[in-house]
Amino acid sequence: MAAPKLVLATHNQGKLRELRELLRNQVPGLNVDTDVVDAGAIHAPDVAETGVTFAENARLKAHAVAAFSGVLAIADDSGLAVDVLGGAPGIFSARWAGVHGDDDANLKLLLAQLSDIVPGNRGAAFICAAALASADGKVDLVEEGTLRGTLLKEPRGEGGFGYDPILLPENLNKSCAELSSAEKNAISHRGQAFRALLPHIVAALGAQA
Ligand code: IMP
Repeated sequence: MAAPKLVLATHNQGKLRELRELLRNQVPGLNVDTDVVDAGAIHAPDVAETGVTFAENARLKAHAVAAFSGVLAIADDSGLAVDVLGGAPGIFSARWAGVHGDDDANLKLLLAQLSDIVPGNRGAAFICAAALASADGKVDLVEEGTLRGTLLKEPRGEGGFGYDPILLPENLNKSCAELSSAEKNAISHRGQAFRALLPHIVAALGAQA
């Protein structure tokens, strides 16, 4: 494998696909399918998420992977912030029910906790911080995106992951799990954060070319 030019600090292939599509034809000479890879492709070690905000965790991961790989790295950190819970689960979204990544248990616990809360008080938002870092630490940027909506009482839809089946985005009558991935990317917290980072990625890759 030729050396990559940009590493996305994740093992999630959906996020990698999204980033490649965003970067396609944006940087002269960049082949997104071979030059942009995930953390698994370079055997990067997992990074402990010791930060207390999405932005801190995204920066930690981006800097660790940039230092390990020697090239530019991007990382994102995201979660669901529920108004009536004061922003929880927040950075604990992936392990709200105790086991990291148990989406089903996390969703069921949250629905049970909110069972008495009426529709008018069920506001929530998906939040994402995306960080860009260079190996020498000179590039150090974070952008955030937010998708606001209302939490349903019952899951709806088969697509997506995590809390998608219970978030009804503002001004839409479909849950996030009822949207196609293109529809979701167009409005999502992650799509917004990646798109805000795009000019910086293009500039940093251009400076290295
Ligand atoms: P991570 O940043 O990919 O580790 O996501 C953290 C957790 O936040 C996930 O495990 C999900 O529970 C939740 N989450 C983040 N983004 C989304 C989304 O777009 N849809 C549904 N759940 C999400």
